[in-house]
Amino acid sequence: MTTPSVATDPACLFCRIVAGEIPAAFVHEDDLVVAFPDIAPRAPTHILVIPRQHIVSAAALTDADSSTVGRLFAVAAQVAREAGIADAGYRLVTNVGRAAGQTVDHLHIHLMGGRSMTWPPG
Ligand code: AMP
Ligand code: ZN
Repeated sequence: MTTPSVATDPACLFCRIVAGEIPAAFVHEDDLVVAFPDIAPRAPTHILVIPRQHIVSAAALTDADSSTVGRLFAVAAQVAREAGIADAGYRLVTNVGRAAGQTVDHLHIHLMGGRSMTWPPG
């Protein structure tokens, strides 16, 4: 068995968004990554940056994903600039597993800004 170059899981919510089966207002799309607003925003700006490929979480990344990971962070920075929150500062978060609060098992970076953030997160 060979692994497909772009894995998708038809049961995965974010794979379905990538495929256009569930609507999302993309603020960025390219060959590796898409970004769209979180449906339940926890900050004035709350955007999800995700790979097109179905990767379960950051814990599943390998060296083979280096281009995708680089693109995820570069796109997050670009979207932050476009959203006007780059100068003030913003937070990038990726939850891994249930104890951390991961509810969608498709890698995503939360880009959150537009307000002050506390540390440590709850
Ligand atoms: P996490 O809890 O870290 O796995 O993050 C999953 C995020 O996906 C949550 O912040 C949800 O609000 C968000 N979410 C769930 N369904 C949708 C959707 N259809 N469109 C946009 N964001 C969604
Ligand atoms: Zn997926």
